[in-house]
Amino acid sequence: MKLGIRNIGTMATGDCNAPVAEAETIVCENGRITGVGVAEDALEDCEVVIDANGTTAVPGLIDSHVHITFGDFTPRQNVVGYLSSYVHGGVTTSISASEVHVPGRPHDRGGLKALSLAAHACFENYRPGGMRVHAGSIILDPELQLSDLAELAEGGIWLAKAGFGAFDDAFAYAPYIKAARDAGMITTVHTGGSSIPGSGAISGDHILALDPHVSFHVNGGPTAMPDADFQRLANESEVAMQICTAGNLRTALLCLEEALKADALHRILIATDTPTGSGIMPLGILYTMSHMSALGGLAPELAIACATGNNARVYGLQSGFLVPGCLADIVLMDAPDGGTQKTALKAIRHGDIAAIGAVISNGVPRFVGRSRNTPATTRGVHVERCEIPASFD
Ligand SMILES: [Zn+2]
Repeated sequence: MKLGIRNIGTMATGDCNAPVAEAETIVCENGRITGVGVAEDALEDCEVVIDANGTTAVPGLIDSHVHITFGDFTPRQNVVGYLSSYVHGGVTTSISASEVHVPGRPHDRGGLKALSLAAHACFENYRPGGMRVHAGSIILDPELQLSDLAELAEGGIWLAKAGFGAFDDAFAYAPYIKAARDAGMITTVHTGGSSIPGSGAISGDHILALDPHVSFHVNGGPTAMPDADFQRLANESEVAMQICTAGNLRTALLCLEEALKADALHRILIATDTPTGSGIMPLGILYTMSHMSALGGLAPELAIACATGNNARVYGLQSGFLVPGCLADIVLMDAPDGGTQKTALKAIRHGDIAAIGAVISNGVPRFVGRSRNTPATTRGVHVERCEIPASFD
């Protein structure tokens, strides 16, 4: 399908080095962005044209901390359809933080590997509400042998999670993280106090020693590590610092401040860490972007980059930016109707959440006009032309 978007007011690119672009059009073909800021006549042969009506285009949000299981169901809160609901919060990609919530999950070597491989395989074929889900994060555990990580990588597994394994001491994760890294995986480590009974606290010393790609919920999941450790992670490591909605807001702001001082904003990731005990938060990323901007002084377009392009760079995704060649995951957002602000970016800086007017993933509009979860947009986004048998309500 060839899709065109016209009348874009502002574009937040997802790139923290050049976060805003002047462009009024985007063209997508076969799931990829093929043109940005092209002349209007390039939209003439589009089968679907969306009139953005002056709203703000941003890359589809990437939630890099979602506890998926199988299907669009979370046993932790007994909720179905939550991933589709996140699409209505502008999230077009979810990355598994390990399938630890699967009821009766296995703890033996074969079961740990099978769970990871099965989750990965299922979500290769399944996009709830149009969301792309990267699943099958192997739970690092002493039951595994180091050689298992290379074998899993050959089976397509590229995510590894430290924090739920049956180790007595978190430093014991080190050889597993190294083996996962050597196998080409993105390695992630739980940070802060224990989130569930039996898992111990992981602080700055552990993160610096383990050297994963990502410090998961660096601001606490949900209990934060010592304040002094944030400056150390910002200055003494290259670890990406993932700020989660379901964490400590004060240390989220502290972490942002230290990252800005260390010129390390490219290592700040915004995610939710849901569904957990904290629940289902389809608008969690929108809230955290607003908190970072309104309370932390971060420019709203940079807050958007932390939830899009920064995640894409750290995880090696092909989405996350509004540039030709990228996967066509696009959100149109605006100031919420009835608020005091005139644009999405001003609303975020003000502390309001942006209203979502359309979500496109993989080049396909998932809805156009009104999100079922956010307030309405100030300006109406609508389908101007549709030559295929579909409606995008
Ligand atoms: Zn988590």
